Amino acid sequence: MNNYEELAEKIKELGAKRVMLQLPEGLKMKAAGMCLFLQEKGIDAFLSNNSTYGACDLADTEAKRMGCDILVHVGHSKFYVDFQTDVPVLYYIWPEKIELGTYDFSLIKERRIGILTSIQHMELLSDIKSLLEGQGKEALIGGQMLGCWTANAEKIESKIDAFLFVGSGEFHPLALKGKTVYKLDLEKGSVERVDAEKFRKLRYGRIFRARDAQTFGILISSKKGQKEMTGMAEGIKKRLEQKDKKALIIVMNEITDDRLLGIKVDAFINTACPRIADMQFTKPFINAEDVGILLEE
Ligand code: SF4
Repeated sequence: MNNYEELAEKIKELGAKRVMLQLPEGLKMKAAGMCLFLQEKGIDAFLSNNSTYGACDLADTEAKRMGCDILVHVGHSKFYVDFQTDVPVLYYIWPEKIELGTYDFSLIKERRIGILTSIQHMELLSDIKSLLEGQGKEALIGGQMLGCWTANAEKIESKIDAFLFVGSGEFHPLALKGKTVYKLDLEKGSVERVDAEKFRKLRYGRIFRARDAQTFGILISSKKGQKEMTGMAEGIKKRLEQKDKKALIIVMNEITDDRLLGIKVDAFINTACPRIADMQFTKPFINAEDVGILLEE
């Protein structure tokens, strides 16, 4: 059974006849084919084509508006924070079949390695553990992580000397703290050390840019899973006011530079997904967790 057939089966098992389909950017190429396939199977399928960050960002309200029985959220597992949805949600991971190659782990000098990954590659972890052991390492599987959730890393941190993140991009591995972090990039077939210092400098650069701001816009995301995840907006507003700064709270769905340009404040504080701060912003832009450093508290 291929992924399309399995998905159709799961929808039918739930008795759903009308569904909203939501996919992240990386799977958008499959969206039209998936919709058409479900229609052939007698399921009314609509495609949500707004940006989709993660399971923090569900199109359940749109699904309800369209009279759908369920939202089918593809590519992510259920978010670690519970929140109410307007229709039931079927999470479908979209398993990817990846043939592992032979990787040279000699860059990793540490002996005990903790392995973490994003949900798509979970099935590869026991094979990667064997590959590491074949090169003289002790390996421990931590499991899944998100760029904003590292509980599985914290559970194994005291038993390992370094982390190995399996996957691409810098955002996930940079969330791992306390040990040296390496990345097994499956697309490039390479093992690399993650340069946390470069990103620490970028973070402190952002805080430095905001140091002279007198008026702040504190941003709350209306995405249910991202609402005030890095700090509570009203508490931050009070802290700023105690330091004779001015602040207003701004609620928005997509936090982007062009949506913020017309707002006459000196700097922004983001309480939503921490990865937003890695984008380019015209005005100083920091994450809520850095307010204490900014205010020298
Ligand atoms: S890192 Fe951001 S986009 Fe990813 S799950 Fe967390 S809040 Fe959502």
